[in-house]
Amino acid sequence: MKFKELKLKKEFIENLNSLGYENLTPIQELSLEKSLSGSDIIAQAKTGSGKTVAFCIPMVEKLEVKRFTIQSLILAPTRELSNQIANELRKLFRHIHNVKVLTLCGGVPFKPQVASLQHNAHIIVGTTGRVLKHIKEKNLNLENINYFVLDEADKMLDMGFYDDIEQIVEVLPQNRQTLLFSATYERNIENLASKIMKNHTFVKIENEK
Ligand code: ADP
Ligand code: MG
Repeated sequence: MKFKELKLKKEFIENLNSLGYENLTPIQELSLEKSLSGSDIIAQAKTGSGKTVAFCIPMVEKLEVKRFTIQSLILAPTRELSNQIANELRKLFRHIHNVKVLTLCGGVPFKPQVASLQHNAHIIVGTTGRVLKHIKEKNLNLENINYFVLDEADKMLDMGFYDDIEQIVEVLPQNRQTLLFSATYERNIENLASKIMKNHTFVKIENEK
């Protein structure tokens, strides 16, 4: 299936094609129609299968640029991954001007992040500990979030972030779309999913043996 067969804005399809994205990868093909129609999704597929683009595309379609408020939150296990996701997002939003993607990660100074937050953003990408710290210090208002992503959820749980994730989810609006991406799917992910999602669709690409 090609991106131009999806119901996406023409300029967006042109941007995707200019980035070298023409055909959907299998996990994109399985997840995108559902996620674009607003469903909660758990997607399992191995590393390198195109999961970032899979969860970013609905965000590009859903974001209201003129409403300058934080509408999407993506949590990732590490700073490196958060930066990669933010860079991918900036490319995918290239055809739309003035979309502000802000990263909030640990291991970098806190105060400049507070200053950036005072200038507001549309999308936050970050690691759980730092995001939670900004929530607790009331620097971060997440009451308009309608699109929430956990990327590499298995890794986040391995790193012991279950409680942090739970605390972050508590301050998010109930009325939101939630997507959980993971390379593996074990009992702990199932528990987390049942806590943070109501009705989800599970999509999986089997690894070739
Ligand atoms: P994952 O999160 O599943 O490990 P990534 O999202 O990091 O995978 O994607 C891996 C690589 O595949 C990236 O370099 C990305 O640009 C590329 N990619 C993603 N989707 C497509 C696509 N539809 N066509 C071609 N390349 C793609
Ligand atoms: Mg990934």
